[in-house]
Amino acid sequence: MIVILLGAPGSGKGTQSKVLASKYGFTHLSTGDIFRAEMAGKTALGQKAAEYVNKGKLVPDNIVSEMVAGRLEPGVNYLLDGFPRNLAQAEELTRMLAPENKSIDKVILLDLPQGEALRRLTSRRICAKCGEVYNVLSKPPKNDAKCDACGGDVVQRADDSEATAKKRLMIFDDLTQPLVAYYRAEGVFEQVNGAQAPEKVSRDLAAVIDAAMAVKK
Ligand SMILES: [Zn+2]
Repeated sequence: MIVILLGAPGSGKGTQSKVLASKYGFTHLSTGDIFRAEMAGKTALGQKAAEYVNKGKLVPDNIVSEMVAGRLEPGVNYLLDGFPRNLAQAEELTRMLAPENKSIDKVILLDLPQGEALRRLTSRRICAKCGEVYNVLSKPPKNDAKCDACGGDVVQRADDSEATAKKRLMIFDDLTQPLVAYYRAEGVFEQVNGAQAPEKVSRDLAAVIDAAMAVKK
């Protein structure tokens, strides 16, 4: 069984991937992990990818898809995280799986309204002096904008600013909308409300996967 989990920055995708991997024994495959393994192993694909990475360029879609497809062994359940990232990768993956009689069983989007994503992505603060990390939603400094540990100024980094967050969300949407349309047409798309409490999100995800597994049997 192959499940793809999609989710905007801030959607809790990383956390939910881990929950699902441990609940169902999915092998969790993230593109970052695969890149590192292929490059460290100096495989032909790894070396090709390294040429791009070392130049600070994006690894071409066909190399990424080939790497991921090469990792998918028969009889193993996979949870793909961060892949496919765009329509080209998705189409390439379908092409590579077809000769082996494999296909994607479920594509689940952790849906999060833009306002909530922004609120989460811009909530991090950091002490300018000692680096202690805070979060205005879950771990605010006790004394307004001063660090609990050292009294330094607690500030927002540029990476966590609203402008940066908006840009990240826009890129995600641009890449993901065609993916959603593609997998919807394939009849494997589902979405789960990612704005709910994490435990409820996990339960909803489990319901989708249970239903998919029942069909597969
Ligand atoms: Zn501090």
